[in-house]
Amino acid sequence: MAIIIDGKKVSAEVKEQVRLETAQLLQKGIRPGLAVIIVGDDPASRVYVNNKKKACETVGFLSREYALPATTTQQELLDLVKELNNDREINGILCQLPLPQGLDEKAVIEAISPLKDVDAFHASNVGKIMIGDYDFLPCTPAGVMEMLHSYNIKVEGKKCVVIGRSNIVGKPMAMLLLHENGTVTITHSRTKNLSEVTKEADILVAAIGRAKFVGADMVKEGAVVIDVGMNRDESGKLCGDVDFEEVKDKCYAITPVPGGVGPMTIAILMKNTLKACKIQNNC
Ligand code: NAP
Repeated sequence: MAIIIDGKKVSAEVKEQVRLETAQLLQKGIRPGLAVIIVGDDPASRVYVNNKKKACETVGFLSREYALPATTTQQELLDLVKELNNDREINGILCQLPLPQGLDEKAVIEAISPLKDVDAFHASNVGKIMIGDYDFLPCTPAGVMEMLHSYNIKVEGKKCVVIGRSNIVGKPMAMLLLHENGTVTITHSRTKNLSEVTKEADILVAAIGRAKFVGADMVKEGAVVIDVGMNRDESGKLCGDVDFEEVKDKCYAITPVPGGVGPMTIAILMKNTLKACKIQNNC
């Protein structure tokens, strides 16, 4: 039976560290503040935003939500971002994606001040990650790295395969594994003989968005399997990109869904907001 990497436990440890550091800042009269913008009424986005607000309360941050109707115009959204860029109480700005049709996500991300871009999606922060000189790391890939560290899983010299090449998960995930001296392969929907590639992986990260896509036949015996996916199975139950039941007996360690990568993403968001606050207050 594999080690089940407990994202709830590791995320609680990260949040506790953030809470302690926040308590010290509060004594100096500084309170980290996160603004979350949500446009429209997508139910999944609503759940994510509620979880982020709850995490802010846990660690002692000021949390402000801006719930805008789906009819919001691009200009109204950009004006709000501009206002928050100049708001001294707010250290981090997050716009929950996806935005309703007709709104330009790229323009909104680029409008957020890089210093308050706690998702690390702004081109300037993405570039900094590429050269290994960054303030913020994107929350989900950084959460994965934190879990690997917590379970003392070394990346150096390992063959790492990432399935998925999105800007928010796959590509930065590969970059972070590379920073820790993994030998990294990125795969995607045009990859030929995918399972031949994934079977080589000592560390396999699935970020695809397809329920239970990765079966035992795609995994090397003794591999570490990280499941970023968040999907619904045939019965509407939350599940990952990995067929957990099939894969768990074959690998060394595996993340479950739920309770794996998901909670880590929010914990890193708290860590990034704290860092943004420290940078903005020179402390
Ligand atoms: P995305 O933008 O849709 O990217 C999916 C990637 O998977 C693409 O690069 C795509 O390849 C690749 N892919 C699709 N079908 C494939 C196939 N048959 N074989 C190989 N590769 C395939 O998704 P994302 O935003 O990266 O998210 C991926 C998953 O992670 C989703 O389930 C999402 O809900 C979840 N997620 C979870 C968290 C968390 O906090 N746990 C955070 C973010 C995302 P192409 O580029 O060739 O199309």
